[in-house]
Amino acid sequence: MTVITATIRLARELRRDHDRGQEAAGRASWPTAQIMPLSAWLADTWKNGLFSDHPATAELAANRLLRPAEERLIWEDVIRSMAEDSLLDIPSTAEAAARSWERLCSWAIPLDNELWNESLDARTFLGWVRAFQARCQRNGWISSAELPASVADFVEQGAAPVSGEVEFAGFLELSPVQQRLIEALRGRGVKVRESAHTDEAGDAVCVGFADAGREIRAAAEWARHCLESDPDARDPAYRVGIVVPDLDQQRNEIERVFGEMLHPRNRLRPELDPTRCFNISLGRPLDEYPVIQTAFLFLGIDPGDLSVERAGRVLRSPFLPGAAEEMTSRALLDADLRAVGAPDLSLSDVIGLARKRKGADGCPILVTRLGTWSETYKTLQNLRLPSDWAPALSAFLRDLGWPGDRTLDSIEYQTLEVWRELLSDLANLDDVFGRVPLHQAVDVLRNLASARQFQPESAPAPVQILGVYESSGLRFDRLWLMGLHDGVWPADPAPDPFIPIRLQRRYGLPGSSPNRVLESTRMLTGRLLSSAPSVVVSYPEREEDADLAVSPLIRMLPETSAAGLGIPPPGDDEGFRGDDEDISDASALEVLHDHYGPASDDVALRGGTFLFKLQAACPFKAFAELRLGARALEEPEPGLNALDRGRLLHRVLERIWGRLKSHGHLFAATEEGLADLVRGHVEPEVRRILGGRIGRNPRLAEIEQARLVRIIGEWMGLERQRKPFMVVDQEEIRSVEVGGIEVNIRVDRVDRLEDGKLVILDYKSGECGPADWAGARPDEPQLPIYAVTAEAEVAGVLFARLRTGELGFRGLAESQDIAPGIRVPESQPPIAQTIGDWKAVLNDLGRGFREGRAHVDPKDPAKTCRYCELPALCRISQGTVELDEPDEAEQPQVLDVQEEPENDRG
Ligand code: SF4
Repeated sequence: MTVITATIRLARELRRDHDRGQEAAGRASWPTAQIMPLSAWLADTWKNGLFSDHPATAELAANRLLRPAEERLIWEDVIRSMAEDSLLDIPSTAEAAARSWERLCSWAIPLDNELWNESLDARTFLGWVRAFQARCQRNGWISSAELPASVADFVEQGAAPVSGEVEFAGFLELSPVQQRLIEALRGRGVKVRESAHTDEAGDAVCVGFADAGREIRAAAEWARHCLESDPDARDPAYRVGIVVPDLDQQRNEIERVFGEMLHPRNRLRPELDPTRCFNISLGRPLDEYPVIQTAFLFLGIDPGDLSVERAGRVLRSPFLPGAAEEMTSRALLDADLRAVGAPDLSLSDVIGLARKRKGADGCPILVTRLGTWSETYKTLQNLRLPSDWAPALSAFLRDLGWPGDRTLDSIEYQTLEVWRELLSDLANLDDVFGRVPLHQAVDVLRNLASARQFQPESAPAPVQILGVYESSGLRFDRLWLMGLHDGVWPADPAPDPFIPIRLQRRYGLPGSSPNRVLESTRMLTGRLLSSAPSVVVSYPEREEDADLAVSPLIRMLPETSAAGLGIPPPGDDEGFRGDDEDISDASALEVLHDHYGPASDDVALRGGTFLFKLQAACPFKAFAELRLGARALEEPEPGLNALDRGRLLHRVLERIWGRLKSHGHLFAATEEGLADLVRGHVEPEVRRILGGRIGRNPRLAEIEQARLVRIIGEWMGLERQRKPFMVVDQEEIRSVEVGGIEVNIRVDRVDRLEDGKLVILDYKSGECGPADWAGARPDEPQLPIYAVTAEAEVAGVLFARLRTGELGFRGLAESQDIAPGIRVPESQPPIAQTIGDWKAVLNDLGRGFREGRAHVDPKDPAKTCRYCELPALCRISQGTVELDEPDEAEQPQVLDVQEEPENDRG
């Protein structure tokens, strides 16, 4: 007997059941069961028909069944050649057209109906279909959508050999073409039956959770609970099913949570246990696997035009020879490239910099491979047929040393097998594309990879996580149906976008009307509820701002709670388990919240005033950056970055006040004299800071000079309006003790008034104001640090805001005449009192840092984490903190260079 299944998974499971049954019966060997998915059976029967001597198939013998990848590319080519809309997304449109074509064939919808004239989309699609058919006919191709009808023809004509008994398993409903196939088999005397399935529901309960995150966690808890407590769980055939309607959208989160719950040790060392006790049915597009991403990275690089970002990915890739031996030197080379500051370079630039690294810091293996890269690339500049490109691309990657010299793991190994199939698919496309250049061949290969869903084979796992379709026909010992809220179950009707709606309804296409959707969902619900003796159905009660309710199709089930399922209530950390070596013996571990690193008593502290800023913003960030040395690589930008601009401004102002020295001299200077003074300092500083970048873009220097001359000229007008002062300190580094920490501080400027009191100034170009110094976690603690360590009485603590169109002083002063724009409200406490409060705050922050306080505790997650470089280290995104999109006003402005002065850091 032959068993034909609706899915590959069902065929696999039935074969395993069959083999177990044979083993249990004490047999040592047995014939392979004829169990296969419908697609495989159709292809086999078609081939057998073609190779038979039957006269009905003689003229078809030269016909060829298209591979899915070819079919998709032919659709793309047909649509591209007929598209009038240049904005059309051809690959997605081709995918949709192929799906519609499959429906047309399955539901035997005629092409000569007048309803096709109803809409432009339908008419356009009909044109594509006719062109696709003509092309297939001309070349002797047959598409997979036409295969069932062709096989039915063969069977009816007696051209294809068939077995005496056939069972169809796991089909929810049969399409008209499948029914025709069954009738054809019966006409040949084949005994056909559909596999028996009971509609008797198991012992089912329903449970709601606050949101989808808690629902996933509860399902993972429950799966673990089943494996630990169900006496049948030690049977190798034991199966827990988790069925998720929108598995494609939730896959990553589900994989993470189930991994943490069932294999907590893998959080740190995923390589320790490649055979997990859960399996997710949904594959990923092939081009999302790292080894394939790297192949496309290498194939897509033009050695003469390389971005720093891409060069960095090459240097950090584990799929180049020498990646392990030269890991550190390649990482340092990446930092070198970014320090050059040019966003674009060439492979020769990279090789040149790499050659400068000597001894233990060198990377000779890399230099050799990059040299080969440049040479081999030159040989790939002519037009070739896809069948020539396939070996050429393969040889190019081999010459580069891809996929590296380390031992590949099982997933990578399987991925490379599929890669070879992909190259073979490319080699079969000569008839579709003809001779093409390198970039087009790589694009075609990339399209093939993104269309190829790939799921590496793994050992049979007791927990199976599946989409609704993949669960067809499967039986489980326990089943959890997730996400069945009223918004998705039943789903909204999703009629085909190209087939006229009236035709769809006339021929009863699934999804074509609310009644049709309701009917299939009802049937599906019945099947799912009867797939296991014990079923849990869950739903989230909220999604973002919307309240959700249980699906009306499962409302009749008795309600239960997490406790009723034997799992901890959501949010209860007691449920966290730790031992995954033998899951059935696992027990709850004590949870230890460790938010402290080692105290810093014996450690030289780095960071200066920046230390206090980081500790106030997020203790973990301060610990990671200043104690662990975690810092992101620089991102080169064209022209000046924010730090360069801040540095320029500070340098020029320092030089100008170094000449003027006092308010009196400023007052005495003529407009022209002052303008000359400003220009005289701006030009050399711009040249110094821009350095070699001027050569690449001389206009850049001119624009920056003009901007600085204008802004500093206007600023001097404000300084003129101040009370008389002498500049007594500029950018001078002092060593002081704050909060028990000895720090080097460098104040932008200190002025002394005629009464001897001090005004402390900090140049800023971004948003700033006295609110930045408020509370126990000040955003900008630098000025408070200068104030509490000042050597004389302080009369003012001011931000000098130098931003085009927004010049002005902001801050605290004892009187309004200290600087224009400063207000002194009656409620303002004396400055000495404020400085006392700051001292207490700084002491507290300093103590926290010294004690090793390292909580992941951003002051304002939406702002603090937004531009932080460490989310991968602190894993904030795996917690509950929401990072909303910032308002435009929150976007970082040009920064103050003093935020990260080099000598403030160490
Ligand atoms: S991302 Fe947020 S929580 Fe993480 S270190 Fe940065 S500021 Fe702290």
